[in-house]
Amino acid sequence: MATATRFAAVPRAGLFTPEHDELRDVIRQFVQRGLKPHAEEWESSGEFPVRDVFAQAGTVGVFGAKYQPEYGGTGPDLVADAVITEELALCGSGGVAAALGAHKDLGPYYVYRFGTEEQRRRYLVPAIAGERIGALAITEPTAGSDVGAIRTRAERSPGDGWRLTGTKTFITNGPIADFVVVAAKTDPAAGRSGISLFVVEAGTPGFSANRVDTVGWRTSHTGELVFEECEVEAGAILGDENRGFYHIMASFQWERIVMALSAVTAAQATLELAMAYARDRQAFGRPVSKFQVWRHRFADMATQIEAARSLSYHALRKVVAGEDAVREVSMAKWLATELDWRVADEALQVHGGYGYMMEYPVQRAWRDARLGPIGGGTTEVMKEIIGRSFGL
Ligand SMILES: Cc1cc2nc3c(=O)[nH]c(=O)nc-3n(C[C@H](O)[C@H](O)[C@H](O)COP(=O)(O)OP(=O)(O)OC[C@H]3O[C@@H](n4cnc5c(N)ncnc54)[C@H](O)[C@@H]3O)c2cc1C
Repeated sequence: MATATRFAAVPRAGLFTPEHDELRDVIRQFVQRGLKPHAEEWESSGEFPVRDVFAQAGTVGVFGAKYQPEYGGTGPDLVADAVITEELALCGSGGVAAALGAHKDLGPYYVYRFGTEEQRRRYLVPAIAGERIGALAITEPTAGSDVGAIRTRAERSPGDGWRLTGTKTFITNGPIADFVVVAAKTDPAAGRSGISLFVVEAGTPGFSANRVDTVGWRTSHTGELVFEECEVEAGAILGDENRGFYHIMASFQWERIVMALSAVTAAQATLELAMAYARDRQAFGRPVSKFQVWRHRFADMATQIEAARSLSYHALRKVVAGEDAVREVSMAKWLATELDWRVADEALQVHGGYGYMMEYPVQRAWRDARLGPIGGGTTEVMKEIIGRSFGL
């Protein structure tokens, strides 16, 4: 008995407590009952009932783990948020996981980190409840990896507010968002030290959004956002004027950790898909030699998934402890997302021609996984950061 108590007091992987396990059960039930059974239908139509799903997710606490109860949150607990991320990755649709995940970790999180109390009440509280959707718009048609090169301009307007002009692209939830955190140049001559963040509400004159077509994440609404002399009030600025670049860099750490965790979980699910297919085939009496080749493939993938999971948890532990984890987070992000893509490709290969058919879910895992090494900072950018961290 004493032994059991002692073990229970030690969080698993140095991270998860029994409370986290309970939370995992709650989120798993929501994902497995409320999302997964609809994934096929939603993916076929490229749509999902956005408002209903966000509201349901808000009710079960998907968006609140990082925040105090005074905002409607259940935290702050970053490990709980990581648990939610892992469970969302099992919903069967990369697009739905991306839509909910981007809302959880991007726009509203920026409002919490850099916003005034008034901004938190106005945007964060309804975002946690799943009643208002938030997005984050940094990338532009000519500035992705190089955030400092953005061209969207914010100038002082005669009415004491700001006037935004420019175009953002590839913005997750952009076309369905109620508010968007937008990066714009307030002092173009100052380069990266001349960027500020603004909260722009949908429906503001001069702001429009269009959905773009994507290879994967088919249910997620990815969009191009246009700002044409779009006037916002003085209070729309988020965080310190001209500190936007540094706010973005600081926030990238969480975005990259959750991308790593999500990728590891998705890779595991894809591997299980392939194993199930292989077992079926074996049962049908297909040649044993083929199964031996598969067995080694599975061993290879399973080993690498465990390695990526360990690295991701190591990075998470450092972040949770408040330590500098830029190197480890960058390592985890590139390793896990590249692995998810490789596992998906191998899993499709195991399926042979069936893998290329839309009827089999492995094709979706393959299309969805391709985004990981691109979004949230590409693999090449991660390697730049890691290399520089060694003074190279
Ligand atoms: C589905 C989807 C959703 C997205 N959601 C959002 C969102 O919600 N908000 C948002 O702001 N953005 C979002 N993005 C944008 C994403 O963050 C960018 O696509 C990404 O940062 C890469 O930028 P880019 O597309 O401009 O490519 P580029 O920066 O032009 O890169 C092109 C290639 O050059 C390489 N490269 C660039 N710089 C270097 C370098 N210094 N050294 C070596 N190689 C380099 C890159 O690795 C890449 O392979 C999304 C993208 C997609 C596809």
